[in-house]
Amino acid sequence: MSFSKILIANRGEIALRIMRACRECDIATVAVYSEADAHAAHVRFADEAWCIGPAAASASYLNQAAILFAATVSGAEAIHPGYGFLSENATFAARVEAQGMTFVGPTPDAIRTMGDKVAAKRAMRAAGVPCVPGPDTSLPDTPDAILAVAREIGFPVIVKAAGGGGGRGMRVVESEASLLSAVATTREEARRAFGRPELYIEKFLEYPRHVEIQVLCDSHGGAVWLGSRDCSIQRRHQKVLEEAPAPGIPAASLQAVGERCVAACRQIGYRGVGTFEFLFENGEFYFIEMNTRLQVEHPVTEEITGIDLVKEQIRVAQGLPLTIRQEDIQSAGHAFECRINAEDPFSFAPCPGVVSAWTVPGGHGVRVDSHMSAGAEIPPYYDSMIGKLIVRGKTREEAISRMRVALDGIVAEGVKTNIPLHRALFRDAGLIAGGADIHYLERWLTQRAVP
Ligand code: ADP
Repeated sequence: MSFSKILIANRGEIALRIMRACRECDIATVAVYSEADAHAAHVRFADEAWCIGPAAASASYLNQAAILFAATVSGAEAIHPGYGFLSENATFAARVEAQGMTFVGPTPDAIRTMGDKVAAKRAMRAAGVPCVPGPDTSLPDTPDAILAVAREIGFPVIVKAAGGGGGRGMRVVESEASLLSAVATTREEARRAFGRPELYIEKFLEYPRHVEIQVLCDSHGGAVWLGSRDCSIQRRHQKVLEEAPAPGIPAASLQAVGERCVAACRQIGYRGVGTFEFLFENGEFYFIEMNTRLQVEHPVTEEITGIDLVKEQIRVAQGLPLTIRQEDIQSAGHAFECRINAEDPFSFAPCPGVVSAWTVPGGHGVRVDSHMSAGAEIPPYYDSMIGKLIVRGKTREEAISRMRVALDGIVAEGVKTNIPLHRALFRDAGLIAGGADIHYLERWLTQRAVP
């Protein structure tokens, strides 16, 4: 079926990003918004907009009944969930389909399997995707059995919640002495935060990079991979900036892992866009999880492949077969993305408020995905990301100099932002060299704090 109207169950830059793609495809857009977002950019951009509840996300952007009602009364044929909020909620996806609408994403079953990190690891191992050493079953209950699992892997290990996400529900354990208490604390955390106590353990890799593979699949068995991204610059397991392709990894290794990802997608009947996240250490890839949605960092892939992932996502949701063949996918040049957050650049404390001035850089190879403008309000209720600054260059070096110039040209006043952090990072020798591990930023911040 072809869509004439899509409801976008999200806010901020990603809602705008999706609406622009819809408009290019002559698809009408329906925005939903909370009372705190009545004047937000995505509401003004959409063809129609429905208020779905009070400011708290639980009462609005996570309010499934209100969103489904807005979709029904507006006559939308599909719901695009964006990222975050309901994007990886299998129950919501099933409810959308039960109402005769299309969920722009994978099937509820695929979301459910990949949302359970143990089930995901099992499925991936079965499909031949290399995983972090450790069993693909949840952790037993008895102390002896837990110890036996950890000894088999070898310390250090990491205890992780099967239902975890957002960098929470994980604990590194250096030795046997602290294992059982770490398991107990993580189990309690998992029960409280994710509503399920299942845990698993795997080898803790000490200095890996975070490298991920973007895939795109149709519902007819067609699947392609669209190169790699490096998202190692993180703080508290949250990505701060990303680049594509992942630098310094031989093309043959990337191709081998990319092909495994595509084979896994075919095996599990995956549909839509998705990301296989890996840790990369000593030349080897280790799968950690699959994200079954569009990701924040998707633009760096778009910039080097020239493929509009959102338009492709909508095409495959309409049941159309992929028109892109693997051999046609070319990765050209290099791209970076800086996440611009309204927060203190070094303490990272969120800083909501009113943006008094907002000027964005432009020019060749520069893209800004943002919902900001002078006078825009950043409500305290949601994510602090206010935009993404993306640059593309013929080479990594060109992209770095272009990002420096772009960062010098971006003006955001009235609230604190992490722009000074990005400016400092793009002058840092370690970042410029490429290939930093996932702890690089935290080490850098610690050293910086020492007078
Ligand atoms: P989430 O779903 O919460 O993002 P992930 O499983 O993707 O959880 O892990 C998030 C981050 O935690 C990774 O990017 C990495 O920094 C760290 N991490 C996870 N598993 C391991 C591991 N086995 N060894 C070392 N670091 C890990």
